[in-house]
Amino acid sequence: PADPDVEALQHADVAALLPHPAAESDKYRRGVVGIAAGSTRYPGAAVLAVSGALRGGAGAVRYVGPAGDAVIARFPETLVSDRGPKHAGRVQAWVVGPGAGDDAEPVAEVLAADVPVLLDADGLRLADRDAVRARTAPTLMTPHAGEAAALLGTSREEVEGARLTAVRDLARSYDATVLLKGSTTLVSGPDGGTVRVNPTGTAWLATAGSGDVLSGLSGSLLAAGLSALDAGSVAAYLHGLAGRYAADGAPAGAHDVAEAIPAAWRDIR
Ligand code: AMP
Ligand code: MG
Repeated sequence: PADPDVEALQHADVAALLPHPAAESDKYRRGVVGIAAGSTRYPGAAVLAVSGALRGGAGAVRYVGPAGDAVIARFPETLVSDRGPKHAGRVQAWVVGPGAGDDAEPVAEVLAADVPVLLDADGLRLADRDAVRARTAPTLMTPHAGEAAALLGTSREEVEGARLTAVRDLARSYDATVLLKGSTTLVSGPDGGTVRVNPTGTAWLATAGSGDVLSGLSGSLLAAGLSALDAGSVAAYLHGLAGRYAADGAPAGAHDVAEAIPAAWRDIR
């Protein structure tokens, strides 16, 4: 891009940011990610977010919400609870929103926690802007163009026509890091300065549940201690590569994308 304040993510930069457990690490050092997602209506969103998180390097994944049975059936290593986020044990980063429905309480609870928070899908819609702005721990928002448009009070077309402006405006407005999903994924820090562009995406990622995988993956990187800007950047890069591997010449589902994350990780490490 011609804009000097836009930089393409480079393979070597991403490789340098990948978390690696130290020899003396335990699961808490590696990071515990909390996932408040999914609902009776959309249990799959919880499963996909957990799936992305498990492949993102966290030491443990804690799920809170009504889809615990579906999560456990697929990923027995998950710690599940049907109580709200504020009753959860130790969590080093929260992911809230995918498939979660209309309950604003879990969103308010995670925003009140003094750890990094990722807001996606319903979490974006239900988050109080002043509560986000008041946070001292990092917030990472991951809207697609339609969700960004709703938050900016504009149309999807407007966002698609000026994606750089949109990601910066949203970041400044919420004083948060924003990852704008789409054909080119953009990541902006809260100051709306330099914007990172992810080069690895593929249109095969335009499939239901793909964003839920990205949210979990990003959450694990936040729990591992990456800044919101780095966590979003590394997650977008890995997710794009995983999409390419999963859809190697043929379409793939979002769960295939999650399963291809380890191959993407091995490739860039
Ligand atoms: P969501 O809309 O929440 O399901 O997320 C969709 C995911 O697919 C995001 O990571 C997008 O960046 C990605 N995606 C959607 N469409 C495209 C596209 N045309 N090219 C590359 N990535 C895409
Ligand atoms: Mg989504």
